[in-house]
Amino acid sequence: MPPLNLDDFERRALPTLLEYATIPCLSPSFDEAWEANGHLNRAADLLADWTSATLPSAAVRVHHLTGRTPVVTATIEATTPDEGTVVIYGHLDKQPPLGEWSEGLDPFRPVRRGDRVYARGIADDGYAAFSAAMAVASLVEAGVGHPRVVILIEASEESGSEDLEAYLDYLVDELADVQLLICLDSGALSYDRLWVTTSLRGLVNTEVTVSVLERGLHSGSASGVVPSSFRILRELLERIEDATTGHVRLASLHAAIPPEVRDAARATTDEFGDVIANEMPTLEGVRLMGDSPAERVLRQTWYPALSVIGLGGAPAPAIAGNVLRPFTTAVLSMRLPPPVDPNVAFEAIAAVLLDEPPAGAKVTLRATNTAQGWVSPPLAPWLATTLDRASREQFGAPAGFTGEGGSIPFLASLGQRYPGVQFVATGTLGPDSNAHGIDEMLDLPTALRVTNAVATLLEAFTHRTEEPR
Ligand SMILES: [Zn+2]
Repeated sequence: MPPLNLDDFERRALPTLLEYATIPCLSPSFDEAWEANGHLNRAADLLADWTSATLPSAAVRVHHLTGRTPVVTATIEATTPDEGTVVIYGHLDKQPPLGEWSEGLDPFRPVRRGDRVYARGIADDGYAAFSAAMAVASLVEAGVGHPRVVILIEASEESGSEDLEAYLDYLVDELADVQLLICLDSGALSYDRLWVTTSLRGLVNTEVTVSVLERGLHSGSASGVVPSSFRILRELLERIEDATTGHVRLASLHAAIPPEVRDAARATTDEFGDVIANEMPTLEGVRLMGDSPAERVLRQTWYPALSVIGLGGAPAPAIAGNVLRPFTTAVLSMRLPPPVDPNVAFEAIAAVLLDEPPAGAKVTLRATNTAQGWVSPPLAPWLATTLDRASREQFGAPAGFTGEGGSIPFLASLGQRYPGVQFVATGTLGPDSNAHGIDEMLDLPTALRVTNAVATLLEAFTHRTEEPR
């Protein structure tokens, strides 16, 4: 089967991908009025129409469960004896712009510079629907045998895939016997090989509010007498995290790191150097956490870590008055090692935050987002061989394997629903791709190579039983 070239991809997929890039289809967490605004539905219809045109033999549908974001599926029946379904997964919802983009760039007006295109959601994860359909189309058009494929594009991923479980129930007959899941929403350490994700961290977000007064008071009269809600919050956070080192104090939020994971981290940094440090636009003089490059890989992929991602109850600096504020709210985002159950983690966090509040302050909290982490099951021999071959053919280098610091809740969920399913989590989110940050970028040659690798996987899937197990 001749692989697609960049011309094919640009001619057939890029115009519609660029159109998709203009739609501000933010995930529901960032657009409460998403249903009225209609952007997610418009993006779903656009992808569905393009997929129908690209894969005329596919059954393409946009599903709308009541009150939930849409899901697009494209099902292509097998041309070889039916041996189960390959699901190719991506998502169409986007993160918000985050802030001002650099000179000449705009989140919703795509800009091409050389072989790179800049726009929000183009790499995370807009390209996925296009790569998936182009990969299948290349097999169909070349008359190469392929398995039954369901392309599944959801629209709540950036909100913790809150609608996905309902759709997995609803689509159970459509998905049928899932044997292989190809997830096109993951990362890459470099653009010189196919990167396969071996683990993902979990996540639990907690919104905590510390209240001390019925209303704000002149700080000249209240300070020194009424305890500050911010100071009490600091004290509460210290129960979770050592402010000096960033070490997470709760034992149940840690997991034993397998020796092979440590070995892989060392091998990666031996080859690529301080990969994690190189990704970070750290200001001069700022010292990173972790004693060595390999330790930083582990810290990013297997350690719990706290980020305070939102604050409430305080005015903007320009209008700050001398007031002792009645309350402070913080959103605590805790990344979790892959095996840790986010519900167990939430219970542990809630227990220490609610235990005997300092100064008798009123503390309330709720979990706002949870995601189970994931550890890849061992690869079947045919799959390991094929990934390596696809990487060598497309990139000229062997496949790379690494953990990721982010979360894709779908993988854990699918693993639970379909025990024995094989996973390939890969993607185009490499250096400078800036997913979730400003100036998000898709590297077109990488998107093309990933597309061709998917086609190789689909073709090899139909021959997999011929190989010795
Ligand atoms: Zn994504």
